[in-house]
Amino acid sequence: MSLIPFNFKSSLRKIFIFFFGYGNYIKLHVFLKYKKPITLRLDIAATCNAQCPFCPRVYMDEGRLVGSMDFEKIKSILISAKKYGFKNLKVYITSEPTVHKQFNEIMKFSKELGFTNYVSSNASLIPRAIEGLKYVDHLQISVEGWDKESYEKYRFPLKFDKVYENLKLLNKEIPLNKQNRYIHVPITKKTNLKKFALLWGEFVSHINIDFMQPANIYSGGIMKSEFNDVIKDDYYDFTPFDDNFVCFDPFSEIVVAYDGKIMLCCLDFSASYNLGNIEEGFEILVSNKIRKIIQKQFFTQKLNTCKDCSMFYKPSKDAIKSLLKQVDLINSSNITKAKLITKLNF
Ligand code: SF4
Repeated sequence: MSLIPFNFKSSLRKIFIFFFGYGNYIKLHVFLKYKKPITLRLDIAATCNAQCPFCPRVYMDEGRLVGSMDFEKIKSILISAKKYGFKNLKVYITSEPTVHKQFNEIMKFSKELGFTNYVSSNASLIPRAIEGLKYVDHLQISVEGWDKESYEKYRFPLKFDKVYENLKLLNKEIPLNKQNRYIHVPITKKTNLKKFALLWGEFVSHINIDFMQPANIYSGGIMKSEFNDVIKDDYYDFTPFDDNFVCFDPFSEIVVAYDGKIMLCCLDFSASYNLGNIEEGFEILVSNKIRKIIQKQFFTQKLNTCKDCSMFYKPSKDAIKSLLKQVDLINSSNITKAKLITKLNF
């Protein structure tokens, strides 16, 4: 994300924004860093073996909840993507990627082509996916819950005992120093962070902490944030952003659904925007008219499509302060080797 050396970054950025505005800052950043997208996201499967209450899958059309991308098709997309200049492959969007029957072969093929592989997994199918996971550079483990009961509430209907055993297997087969392995945990008012760190810390090198956001749904032609009633008492209180809307996803990534439809980003579970189909080829996709309109909304800071995205909801300063304090306390107590990290500030 850095535009210039760190020591000068913050103050120069502020000066730039002061004189030229936030939208122009985004424009400059995109010009310097994302002339072309560098990350390809492929939803190799549409199916997930969990029904987490905070996930946008809860709101997806039934027709898009199952399916998978053919391996031959994946190979041909990856070959074209490599020629186009993509560097990173992320194989997770709306589903659990290890449910794909050829997950192992896909990861091997991608690595042989020279991609940096990113996977996010709920760890429920590690025994059968372990060979493919050996080709993964960055592995995000998705677990919520600080004990069996809370885990099984947030990761219904997966079983705590099974996932815990799977993670032991993962540690044995792929030592932590061979892979960037981490957890991204969206916390709620009920999360016991200390217990969480104690429980899962041995399986990862760090734990990224954020607040559990509402899910994004597509409604009336735009993205809308939706708090799930089933866990409504768990969410922190949020207020929407007024200004400084930044998201580089429409610039840095091309996101492909299991059926070839292009999605706006990894939160666009419905793939409802008319952003084209992978069959059209990357040159055409990056200049898709609707993509360009959405990009321009960030330059002008007059957001329509993304204005109500969950990215633009923030918790109170007090909630952030209290979280930062907890993180510091846990890190300084050395109860786990995994470092707790949060990019939140106020
Ligand atoms: S702002 Fe939200 S909906 Fe818009 S592209 Fe970024 S993540 Fe997707």
